Amino acid sequence: MNTSLLDRLRAELDERGATTGLRRDLVVSGPQGPTVGVGDETLVNLASNDYLGVASDPEVVESAQRALRDMGLGVTAGRVLCGTRAIHGELEAAIAELVGAEDAALYSSCFDANLGVFNALLDGSDAVFSDALNHASLIDGIRLTQAHRRVFAHADVDQLERQLVECVDARHRLIVTDGVFSMDGDVAPLPQLAELAWRYDAALVVDDSHATGVLGATGAGTAEHFGLDGRVDVLTGTLGKALGGGAGGFVAGDRAVVETLRQASRSYIFTNAMAPPLAAAALTAIRIVRERPGLRERLAANTAWLRGALRDLGYEVLPGGHPIIPVMVRGGTRARDVAEALRAEGVLVFALSHPVVPAGEERIRVQVSAAHTADQLELAAAAFGRARDALAAA
Ligand SMILES: *Cc1c(COP(=O)(O)O)cnc(C)c1O
Repeated sequence: MNTSLLDRLRAELDERGATTGLRRDLVVSGPQGPTVGVGDETLVNLASNDYLGVASDPEVVESAQRALRDMGLGVTAGRVLCGTRAIHGELEAAIAELVGAEDAALYSSCFDANLGVFNALLDGSDAVFSDALNHASLIDGIRLTQAHRRVFAHADVDQLERQLVECVDARHRLIVTDGVFSMDGDVAPLPQLAELAWRYDAALVVDDSHATGVLGATGAGTAEHFGLDGRVDVLTGTLGKALGGGAGGFVAGDRAVVETLRQASRSYIFTNAMAPPLAAAALTAIRIVRERPGLRERLAANTAWLRGALRDLGYEVLPGGHPIIPVMVRGGTRARDVAEALRAEGVLVFALSHPVVPAGEERIRVQVSAAHTADQLELAAAAFGRARDALAAA
């Protein structure tokens, strides 16, 4: 054992433990749903990305079981060897149809998709413009390219335009943004970004992980939400949130983009193909998401109700309509205290504190699902009310 490495790691862990504290995973039991088991308790689950409540849908589970029986668990090979099954192509076609693209390429996760997309499409003669609050996987994926890199302040289209002007000589310009930002639940200023992309001959890349299935009349995502169908050049997303919550990611776009990824994207080529049960589950989830627009109506109604209830209780709720509801509880450990009080009342939420969000921006991130019942949401609101009284008395 190399003691100098271990000594350094131990010292850093001690330091981290004494300051911000070490992350400890919550161990959840039973299936994912509007409630989850934690220890002996059943908690109302306001912390998952299962926005449409399809993760434990019997049809989704049954299709995964059937695929397991018929095709086995894993394929023990990559897509370019003997790992490809018919269901991979079916799922890619279903994703492309859902988001309104010509084609899509599957990845093991959206993290992998974002790691593999930029390097395959760009080289040192290109320039990338990235929103400061973009997901970690976009940041890492952009770092893997030789392209010139610029970061613009969150949603600051004026700064983005100045950067585009400065880089007019680049071969390609790529504007990269999350469709919905996971900390604030805010939607990217896509109309302005699309306008700049058009004016400066740039391509628009959107990571719609929190929007696919959720936003837009048919669940196509952020572009559909704004009536900008066809204006996003490259769309990346996850199967791990609203689309069944198993695992997997994708890149969707024109055939030439997707074919280039199949030829050159390292995280597409040099890894195992998706396990058939996961592909089958996602395929069923996408069918459900398309067949039941009532799920999105239910989600919107649940979101509007809880946002209103929390605001009526006097909480500072960041504006917006997405089921990510940031409830600001600023300062010290107050957000964490409220999250603990809610846990004791049977409601699962997480507090986000520094360094995940800036100091003074501490919050509780509430995530609503179409599967939540009125009783569950009322129970949660009542618990928030008592936590607010305790906070005021402290
Ligand atoms: C969750 C998320 C990812 C990662 O998705 P996985 O499929 O779980 O790897 C990537 N980008 C954004 C914006 C996300 O919210």
